[in-house]
Amino acid sequence: MSNNTADVIIIGAGVHGASLAFHLAQRGVKALILEKKFVAAGATGRSSGLVRMHYDVKQDSELAWVSYNYFRNWKDMVSTSTALSAGFKRTGFLQFVARDDVEKMSANVKMHQEIGIPVTLVKADDVKRLAPTFVIDDIQLAAFESESGYADPTGTTNAFINAAKEKGTRLIQDCAVTGIIVSGGKVKGVETTQGRFDAPMVVNAAGAWAGKLNQLAGLDLPYDTWRHDTMFVARPREIGPEHPTVIDFSNEMYFRPDAGNLTLVGLEDGNPLGESPDNDTDHAKSGFVERGIDRICKRIPLMENGGLHSAHGGYDGITPDQHPMLGAIGPDGFFLDCGHSGTGFKISPAVGLCMSELILDGKSKTVDISIYRPQRFAENKLIVGEHPYSSIWR
Ligand SMILES: Cc1cc2nc3c(=O)[nH]c(=O)nc-3n(C[C@H](O)[C@H](O)[C@H](O)COP(=O)(O)OP(=O)(O)OC[C@H]3O[C@@H](n4cnc5c(N)ncnc54)[C@H](O)[C@@H]3O)c2cc1C
Repeated sequence: MSNNTADVIIIGAGVHGASLAFHLAQRGVKALILEKKFVAAGATGRSSGLVRMHYDVKQDSELAWVSYNYFRNWKDMVSTSTALSAGFKRTGFLQFVARDDVEKMSANVKMHQEIGIPVTLVKADDVKRLAPTFVIDDIQLAAFESESGYADPTGTTNAFINAAKEKGTRLIQDCAVTGIIVSGGKVKGVETTQGRFDAPMVVNAAGAWAGKLNQLAGLDLPYDTWRHDTMFVARPREIGPEHPTVIDFSNEMYFRPDAGNLTLVGLEDGNPLGESPDNDTDHAKSGFVERGIDRICKRIPLMENGGLHSAHGGYDGITPDQHPMLGAIGPDGFFLDCGHSGTGFKISPAVGLCMSELILDGKSKTVDISIYRPQRFAENKLIVGEHPYSSIWR
């Protein structure tokens, strides 16, 4: 095969392009990854890395649970000659919801338990034991995943790519795809800033930029960009060396510990849509830090003695139902693995596996990912959980 030819071209070296390349390589298919900047230059490099299974859609929880096995047993699942790993850290995970959503949470926890996920409903007293410095006057019941925590998204991506490269995958960085070549209704390859590359299959894994590539393939799909800022706060000593990872719907916030006595904080609201993903992401938007500090101090008043470490942002692709687009659409050989809507890191190992099954076998068998088919918007079959929380990103 010449240097400009591949079985499969993957556009984008974020965690999804990397996971798919790895899983294709495990089946003997050597993909070519084309990345316009560098590995994890997009959402992945800015991801908060939460690894938990709590969702209100069964397939989301199934994908997170299959993925969890990778994070927990990385060496066995993704063996490489390098020491790169996903850097999983188990902290325990607490899900808080608003009072009105407690029944929905209980129903969702039952669904998780049916999947086999280790999760229990815990009372306020238990939460106080798990997190003594939290103020929890508003919490009667929480979901607790003892095994969950967070991982290192850039490390995960590099580890997948290294493992894939050892099996023959190629990666070209500084190579932006500028056109999708189609002839007779079939994909033939791509045009790039480094010339033409040929392949009978092309996967769009370009995150927040994927909408543009869909248009280049002649597709008209509802796809937007979503901006999300996060900040790191230095914890005062009184809080201690650790605390659980938390999604706090009542305060529209999530937070988790990080290395060096830091706590990472993100907010569920005030995440603008429709901006250029090429905007500045080295700085958080004005007002974000103040809002974040107010909320984390509301939940953990001792944080008032802490200090701001840093804040920045990132862009992901988002769809109208805040679920990814996974599957074939448009010209023969064109696939989507994009639109991960701000929650795609924790499911990336399983999505790569399922996408490799879909591409090579015509159907995914590990988890049925057909609900994520990109055609669902035209069919008006948007994804909604059986016991849905209100839309999380605003
Ligand atoms: C701040 C933030 C925090 C998050 N926190 C979490 C979390 O805690 N847990 C969780 O599960 N998820 C989280 N997410 C979501 C998760 O990080 C993303 O869903 C996931 O990283 C998306 O990966 P991706 O590979 O689809 O996209 P990306 O990582 O964005 O990768 C796409 C790549 O495509 C490249 N590209 C774009 N256009 C082209 C082109 N024309 N040619 C070649 N290459 C191109 C880009 O340079 C980029 O490297 C967060 C997202 C953000 C922004």
